[in-house]
Amino acid sequence: MTNSELGREEKMQVERASNFIHEIIEDDIKANKHNGIVQTRFPPEPNGYLHIGHAKSICLNFGIAQKYSGKCNLRFDDTNPAKEETEYVDSIMEDVRWLGFNWDAVYYASDYFDQMYIWAEQLILQGDAFVDDSTGEEIRLSRGTLTEPGKESPYRNRTINENLELFRGMRSGTFPDSSKTLRAKIDMNSPNINMRDPIMYRILRANHHRTGDKWCIYPMYDWAHGESDSIEKVTHSICTLEFENHRPLYDWFLEKLGIFHPRQIEFARLNITYTLMSKRKLLELVNENYVTGWDDPRMPTICGYRRRGYTPESIRLFADRIGVAKRDNMIDVAQLENCVREDLNKSANRMMAVLNPLKVVIENYADNFTENLNGVNNPEDAAKGSRTIKFSKEIYIEQDDFMENPSKQFHRLAPGTEVRLRYAYIIKCEKVIKNEQGEVIELRCSYDIDTKSGTGTSPKKVKGTIHWVSAEFGKSSEVRLYDRLFTIEDPAGIKDGNWRDAINPHSLVVVSDAKIEPALSECVVGDRVQFERLGYFAVDKDSTADKIVFNRAVSLRDSWAKIEKKNK
Ligand code: ATP
Ligand code: MG
Repeated sequence: MTNSELGREEKMQVERASNFIHEIIEDDIKANKHNGIVQTRFPPEPNGYLHIGHAKSICLNFGIAQKYSGKCNLRFDDTNPAKEETEYVDSIMEDVRWLGFNWDAVYYASDYFDQMYIWAEQLILQGDAFVDDSTGEEIRLSRGTLTEPGKESPYRNRTINENLELFRGMRSGTFPDSSKTLRAKIDMNSPNINMRDPIMYRILRANHHRTGDKWCIYPMYDWAHGESDSIEKVTHSICTLEFENHRPLYDWFLEKLGIFHPRQIEFARLNITYTLMSKRKLLELVNENYVTGWDDPRMPTICGYRRRGYTPESIRLFADRIGVAKRDNMIDVAQLENCVREDLNKSANRMMAVLNPLKVVIENYADNFTENLNGVNNPEDAAKGSRTIKFSKEIYIEQDDFMENPSKQFHRLAPGTEVRLRYAYIIKCEKVIKNEQGEVIELRCSYDIDTKSGTGTSPKKVKGTIHWVSAEFGKSSEVRLYDRLFTIEDPAGIKDGNWRDAINPHSLVVVSDAKIEPALSECVVGDRVQFERLGYFAVDKDSTADKIVFNRAVSLRDSWAKIEKKNK
């Protein structure tokens, strides 16, 4: 279900839930817990690029630190050497900064490997952990199910000394990979499977992006995460709902060690319609060439949105608007697009570009004559000023702005009818020129000299105003029109998991020879503009000195809303 379809009552629930984390924190501050100090962290695993779900978590964690004058750290949860790379660390830092946040410190879970090791020995000495020789498969099979208890490992009752010696052997490389694990000794009968003697360490000879070959044992996530939070004195450890069942284990480790005890709070993951959100699936999209890379403008990654022309402000606005939910839901992607429109409407200059050019010759306009017209850059922001637009005899208009046999509602150009050219004159279509196939290839028009925008003396009024680009002065450009990457609302939920069946074959349409007004060709990579009547566009990094490339960030209106309504 999309957010727009939520009933009134449910909407109110979402709203009420939207600040439940703030409420918890405020209660803690009132109770003077941790002396009223608030500290959060954003803890990505450096195994992929950040997506909009992460942006939600970033806005939440850094937002809390800002709101309560606390701190927020960036911590790389780099406990899994096999999939992690420095490339991802760099991109994550760039993305967090781009979103507009500064961390108080950068930490790496791998910096705590020594401390974690010492704590693991402490648990062994307390009789709270043991070395298990069972295979991975044996451990899985003895874990039980939601309805059946697990079975205790035959190695569970080793003596403390034996466990200590074996664990030290694990560390020093005496045993082959995967031949032993260190497990917490909790309760194989616990109704919570996470409490059934969970694994703390495995033996794995893998080169780590920071610790190199120093370690051949690596901590499991549940063991490393809370302990890292504790070392950093994180007061509120905010994570997504799937960790709710892990909270008893998070608390158990901290209690057994008797160390600083952060409070874990869970919120619902962000899911967006027509979008895949897991890093693993995004990596598949990249590797299988459905997109050109992590920063393909169709990707829900932060670098993809950046390249597409989304602003950090619009993503923060979105994160703020959707609030924080306590149960899983699906947010309509149109909400994100609306935030982008809202923000770009304020900041983007308006310029003229023609995507599907149709030549217009103004027959009664003097040859070799040029007029400098004045174009207002942004009606929402007078400080943006104006620019000169050159007008002359031959121009391009959109093919769509002409109809040979117009319907009554069509107020643009048709044989014998008049339309206003933005910033210029009213023109009248006098003659239609076709090629041998009968296609319209050129229009011959006349202009009314008394109708000049702003200064014209003619009382004449027409219903339509269209954009145009001078044939003489305009430049050529490549424009990439992006659309949703998937044709269905929930590609992750598709039966048998094959989201590949739901890929939108028209998610990218390339216009190779669009006409743009000269001022547009001066834009630089990253600039965002509105093409009048068409949408918001951003200059792509593929631009060259010869040809500027624009990406469509978002159209002016939501064209899918109509389609969806029709389908219902
Ligand atoms: P993925 O499943 O996409 O790989 P992840 O949870 O494994 O995501 P991490 O790098 O471990 O990715 O996540 C870093 C932080 O971002 C975590 O605190 C996680 O809870 C949060 N996060 C990840 N995905 C989302 C999401 N869709 N909505 C909200 N927060 C998210
Ligand atoms: Mg993860």
